[in-house]
Order: sequence, then structure tokens, then C-alpha cells
Amino acid sequence: MTQTGITERTAQDVAKRVFIKTYGCQMNVYDSARMADLLAPHGFVVAASPRDADLVILNTCHIREKAAEKVYSELGTIRRLKAAKAGRGGRMLVAVAGCVAQAEGAEIMRRAPCVDLVFGPQSYHRLPDLITRALRVTGTGILDTSFPAEPKFDFLPEAAAPQGVTAFLTVQEGCDKFCSFCVVPYTRGAEYSRPVARVLAEARQFVHGGVREITLLGQNVNAYHGEGPDGREWGLGALIRGLAELPGLDRIRYTTSHPRDVDDELVAAHRDVPQLMPFLHLPVQSGSDRVLTMMNRRHTASYYRRITERLRAARPDLALSTDLIVGYPGESDEDFLATLDLVEEIRFAQAFSFKYSPRPGTPAASGAAQVTEQVKSERLAALQLLLARQQREFNESCVGRVLPVLFEKPGRHEGQLVGRTPYLQSVHVAAAADRIGEIVPALISGASANSLSGSLAEVIST
Ligand code: SAM
Ligand code: SF4
Repeated sequence: MTQTGITERTAQDVAKRVFIKTYGCQMNVYDSARMADLLAPHGFVVAASPRDADLVILNTCHIREKAAEKVYSELGTIRRLKAAKAGRGGRMLVAVAGCVAQAEGAEIMRRAPCVDLVFGPQSYHRLPDLITRALRVTGTGILDTSFPAEPKFDFLPEAAAPQGVTAFLTVQEGCDKFCSFCVVPYTRGAEYSRPVARVLAEARQFVHGGVREITLLGQNVNAYHGEGPDGREWGLGALIRGLAELPGLDRIRYTTSHPRDVDDELVAAHRDVPQLMPFLHLPVQSGSDRVLTMMNRRHTASYYRRITERLRAARPDLALSTDLIVGYPGESDEDFLATLDLVEEIRFAQAFSFKYSPRPGTPAASGAAQVTEQVKSERLAALQLLLARQQREFNESCVGRVLPVLFEKPGRHEGQLVGRTPYLQSVHVAAAADRIGEIVPALISGASANSLSGSLAEVIST
């Protein structure tokens, strides 16, 4: 019997191939990779398709209604694959993980009896144990959506080096902000920061395995306050400075931030740390103070303006990205125009915009003045037109410049690689495959709505 409860025999004989499908945010991508790490010592290999898998895990997202509904439709397909495998005398375990699992655990069991196992984002370190239990029973599913007192990070094995040259690294999880539209505080639980030493060790491990760029993740990543090796509490700015000392780690990014948690130390890191890339995703949600108050965002539009001014003063070439919601309950035409004004003024290099989606259990969901679907659609279309124009203009402003590009993977065409600029734009460049993992100066010659094209410009140094 191993410490986690799966006997070598059960792992070897019963469940070998695990298929993990990830929905939603980058934190789910990180969690899925950690689930694979957790299962590897028990004999599981990752499968590319659910078809013959012994274990299928859907790692789900609950942020908007559409994201949650996708899971039930995928479970229809999985149910048929499970039945087909049973027809051939095999057994497939089906697990639902992540935020839909946390929010709708019992409902999943009721609507999808093919599911054997449901567990939330804070209990996946118990996965081997849960599988052992699920293998023993048939007919009744196992539900673990508790918020364990012990942080799961203390029980996860060392992360395996990611396959590529870029990696996500979760440093903070959960949220105490309770924006009135958002499920995260309910599905991910209270804010928690990993100790600095653990983060540095994981980053070192990644770099050792060939990673050159790390994106620090957290639902509210700049609320990070991990215990430092010096016994003091380190904020995100100090953590970034610590990471910048790791030889071989050339690029650092972080996401997602809250405007309220941008402090002096973080602004100074943008000024002083060359490895910290000049691109920041800083959600604003709305440009109307009335809506921001109703959203419980705890910042105004002018507070957001001031923060972006300070950041741009610290790092003049900083490119900004944001999240925006249209049609929040009670949002008037005037409120929406204030959002358009703010966007015009800030000028975003990239942005994500959404129609407000009522989430069960959140305060806004019961708000009386729900905006009609038609108005939401009209506002979203107008906003996206403006955002697309800004993104195109930003991309076009890069044409003629030489930018350092980190090559990540082969492009769609023969002899082409895809990489990223410091501003997170994709760039397609003709280059040999053995250059993946290098940061190379590229002369940008073309720009489209979503990407750039260019050619090697190595005579000019980075
Ligand atoms: N922590 C980040 C912040 O402070 O804004 C946001 C994280 S959330 C996972 C990602 C984005 O989803 C939010 O910024 C918001 O724009 C969007 N979102 C969250 N709840 C939503 C809802 N109920 N309807 C529409 N969009 C939503
Ligand atoms: Fe959700 Fe972000 Fe608000 Fe937290 S700060 S409640 S994660 S939108």
C-alpha cells in the first residue's frame, strides 16, 4: 500500500491511461498538470483521447453559464465511451474536477450517473485515494468538495518539468474580494499564498527542465503574501525580484491582478526587473463608478486610471490588457458609455469582454434589474469593435520594430516557428526547428488582428 492508498496492483492492473480535459483559466491548466504528476507514480500515463482511457477527468470552469453547460454536454459523449468500454469487458472511471464540481457536485451526480467521482479544486491532492475508493464501489459516486484545513500544495509531489519552454506556476489561490458577479470565492475558497521557498524551488525545477518563461498564477495574484525565507512576508514585487535571480529564467509574467493590490513594490518591479515582461493583464470590468460600486470592486474608474499612469511611468512601453463585463444588472446606457470612454482613454493592447452571466449563489444573480439579452449583445458588439481596433492598432505599431521573440513551437507552415514578443503577441517567423527555446530578435513586418509576422534579425542584439 502506498501512502496515498492505491496499491501497486490496483494502479498497474486496473487503471493505466488517464485522459484529462481542461476547461477555463490557466490555473486549471496548471492543476491538470499537477493531477498528472500526482497520478504518474501510480502507473498512469496521459492519454491523448478519452476513447480507451481507464480514467477520464474533466477539469471544469464555472465562471460563466456557458462554461458550465459544456461539461454536461461532454459527459454525454463520455457516457457512451464508458458504455462501449464496458461492452468490451473494460472499466472506465469518470471524474469531474474543478469549479463546476465544487459548485454543483450533487447536481452532477444526479444529472450524470456515469460520473464516479466528483472533487473540488482544493481536494485534488487526495485523487489517488479517491480513485482507490471509486474502484471499490459501483453504482454510487464519490463526492469530495470539502475545503480541507491542510493546503493541498503541502501534499502534491514535486512538479514534473513542463514539456515546453513556457510554464504556469500557481503562487496564490482563492479570493477574499467577493465581487458580486463572481463565483471564484465560493469555488476556490479563501486566499492562500504558497511560501516563497516552495515557489522558488518549483521555478528552479522548471528552468532546469528547459523552461525560459514562467507565468505566475493566482486568482488575485498580486494579493500574494507568501512567507519569505527571511521570515518576513513577501509581496508579489519581492517574489518577482527573487525569481529574477534564477539563472536561465529570462521572462516572468503574472496573472490575474486586481487594481486594488497594485502596490509600490510591484510598480518598482516593473521599473527595475528586466525579466518582468512589459505586459500586464489588469481587469477593470467597467468604466462606470456606479456599476463598479454595485460590483463591489472597491475601486473607481479614476483609481484605475491613476494605477495605469503609475505603471506606465515606471515602464513606458507597458502594454495593458483587461477584462470587461457588459450588461451587469442595472447597467444603463450612460454607464456603458463610461466604459467605452475609459477604454478609449486607456488604450488596451488586448482585452477579454463578456456579457454578464448570472451565477447561482452570487449576490448579482438575484439583482432585480437584469439587462435584456438583446441589449447585452448590442453593447458587447460595440465594445468588441473598439477593442479589436485598439488591438489592431497596437499590433500595427510594432511593424518595423525589432522585438525579442521567444520561440515556443513549430508554426502551421513548414519551416516556420511561432513565438511571443514581450507584449505577448504571437509572431510567425521562418526559422529552423532547433531554435525553439531561444530568444531571438525578429524584425516585425506584418500585423493582423491577432498576430504578427516577421523575420530573423540577429545582427541586431537584444
Ligand atoms: N481576479 C480577476 C479580477 O479581479 O477581475 C478575475 C478573474 S475571473 C476568473 C476572469 C474574468 O471573468 C473576470 O475578470 C470577469 O471579467 C469575468 N467574469 C467573472 N464572473 C463573470 C460573470 N458572472 N459574468 C460574466 N463575466 C464574468
Ligand atoms: Fe472574482 Fe477577481 Fe473579484 Fe476575486 S477579485 S471575486 S476572482 S473577479
